[in-house]
Amino acid sequence: VVIGGDAGGMAAASQLRRLQPDAEIVVLEKGRWTSYSACGIPYLIGGQISALDHLVARTPEEFRAQRIDVRMQHEATAIDLDARTVEVHNLERGRTFALGFAQLHLATGATPRRPEVPGIDGPHVHAVQTLADAASLLADAEQNRPQRVCVIGVGYIGLELAESFLMRGAEVTVVDRAAHAMASLDADMGALVAQAMRRHGITMRLEESVMGIDHAAVTTNEREIPADLVILGTGVRPNTTMLGECGIPLGSTGGVVVDRRQQTSIPGVFAAGDCCESRHLVSGKPVNVALGTYANKQGRVAGINMGGGYATFPGVAGTAVTKLCATEIGRTGLNESEASAAGFEYVSAKIDATTWAGYLDGPPITVKMLAERRTGRVLGAQIVGGSGAAKRIDVVATALAARMTADDVAALDLGYAPPFSTVWDPVAVAARQLLGRLTEGGASR
Ligand SMILES: Cc1cc2nc3c(=O)[nH]c(=O)nc-3n(C[C@H](O)[C@H](O)[C@H](O)COP(=O)(O)OP(=O)(O)OC[C@H]3O[C@@H](n4cnc5c(N)ncnc54)[C@H](O)[C@@H]3O)c2cc1C
Repeated sequence: VVIGGDAGGMAAASQLRRLQPDAEIVVLEKGRWTSYSACGIPYLIGGQISALDHLVARTPEEFRAQRIDVRMQHEATAIDLDARTVEVHNLERGRTFALGFAQLHLATGATPRRPEVPGIDGPHVHAVQTLADAASLLADAEQNRPQRVCVIGVGYIGLELAESFLMRGAEVTVVDRAAHAMASLDADMGALVAQAMRRHGITMRLEESVMGIDHAAVTTNEREIPADLVILGTGVRPNTTMLGECGIPLGSTGGVVVDRRQQTSIPGVFAAGDCCESRHLVSGKPVNVALGTYANKQGRVAGINMGGGYATFPGVAGTAVTKLCATEIGRTGLNESEASAAGFEYVSAKIDATTWAGYLDGPPITVKMLAERRTGRVLGAQIVGGSGAAKRIDVVATALAARMTADDVAALDLGYAPPFSTVWDPVAVAARQLLGRLTEGGASR
């Protein structure tokens, strides 16, 4: 039995089917869609995608053709590990029944955090996690044509939806109680994102807390912000409420604890995606990073192991890319506060360059990189810049996986031609600067 019909669940079900043609596989999905791209929702709202169905990679019918028994609008409500049953509520018919399992796979995803303020459940306040959320947001946007949109919280989802509403011609205000945009970046790099947001016409209200929301405005501790539609970009937490006290262990992050084969400590019970914890490749600590790229990979690993094969998930570096109009953002590994919390003594370097040759009007790029002081091992990087900036973070992500030093990264054989890069790629320039800091005994923490 698989609970959850998106990335972490269907990747597992598909692998299991491949390995065990005769296995009886039941997928419980409380919503109306399977295998959809939540990552594409901002582009649906912004109008670059014309219909919600385009975000569905595979329909329930396609899975059923593979003899995967997908039961839509069926919610798992409890688990009995002794009886090895799941309590299931059929939302359409209002019936509840018990379903037995030999193996169980949890892929229930994440739940948006909702600040506890008056008006948070109003009809124009939207948290965006599933396609049902996207459908409701799109209907509100099309029927009511909001002129003034307020985004609360500026992580990548808040940023991307701010862009979507700019594209719809709305005035956008962003409120965040933090002093800079994007908590996954250091303050200096987050400040570059905030600058870009202002440049693109977004009103930034940083270091302000939301006190209440009504049909026409968001009230902060400083002011009233007129808004006909409100987006919550306040982050997510693992969706594990349904597990209750059933005995499947949760970790310090609130996610399901799994081993490298995505198995919990309960034999035959697996988990993947936003609902579970991962091991951070650099800090070694348990983390819960809600990204589709992990949900797909972890689901595949769980499915192979459920099918009697052998696969492991190595861990996550927290590599993420996003954009606001022409400004691209990438990050991987540890930022300064994470490196300190993990006990590393580190040095950092930050460089400004262009993504391709300056004489071809290459757009600006800023690269910040951190390395461990004693060993020179690269710990993480952040990039903000124009076209071609974000995906350069993959070079650093690869360096993290290979435990490379700043010296190694500076010497990498990275491609160069004027329309793509400067002679020394900005990532190599940052690594060289870092090397200088490491050898000169300069500022370290
Ligand atoms: C707007 C947006 C943009 C994003 N952009 C990116 C991006 O660019 N890159 C990236 O890597 N990631 C991105 N993500 C994150 C990515 O979408 C998630 O990490 C991914 O969808 C997680 O997959 P999952 O299968 O773990 O959970 P989900 O996709 O949340 O799926 C869980 C499913 O389980 C169902 N379910 C939950 N509880 C029950 C229950 N009790 N019974 C039955 N069914 C249940 C839910 O209805 C849901 O369909 C984005 C997310 C959003 C919302």
